[in-house]
Amino acid sequence: MDRRGVRRERHAILKWDRGREVVSKEQRLVQANSVLPTFTFRGVVLELDSTGHVVVCWTSAHKPALVRKRWVTRGSDFHPTWRYPWGGTQSTAIAQLVRWVQGKPTLPLGSWEYWASDTVKLCGPETLEALRAINWPAKPICVLCGNECAGLDWWNLDGVSGPCCSAWKVTSCRFVRDPPTQWHTSTLEPPQSS
Ligand SMILES: [Zn+2]
Repeated sequence: MDRRGVRRERHAILKWDRGREVVSKEQRLVQANSVLPTFTFRGVVLELDSTGHVVVCWTSAHKPALVRKRWVTRGSDFHPTWRYPWGGTQSTAIAQLVRWVQGKPTLPLGSWEYWASDTVKLCGPETLEALRAINWPAKPICVLCGNECAGLDWWNLDGVSGPCCSAWKVTSCRFVRDPPTQWHTSTLEPPQSS
């Protein structure tokens, strides 16, 4: 990442942290683990290894009964590189909790409201309650411009990942002045019909 990219990221992270309670990684781990038991797919627990990396544990019907894997993702930072027994959306939700522990910008409460809805049924009202109890952010902060996201996409390039302004509403994102060579966003929102 170039120097401008580093500055931009720092700016976005600072903005993300502003107004949030300063808590340690260990405390954030406890917070993330207070949310996981409310999922439909139960039995997933997060741990930290001796080097501070997040480890995901779950109980399996097959041997070994307790599986422990260091969280390593591919692509958008939503899915681990190894095979997991839960669905893709739950993987995205677990990824948000891992990012929470890591202190990285996450998808907002609105995404969880959708996952808790009857359409997805990944979790329920108790999940939203647990998230509000740990002050999960209601508004996504763009990792590119540091402002509240205009629309919502997901950025992942050169080690920077997180919510970003929608490519469809990009005129309001400061990043447009300093465009990347290639857009690497997964569109979470359909284009607005004008
Ligand atoms: Zn932006």
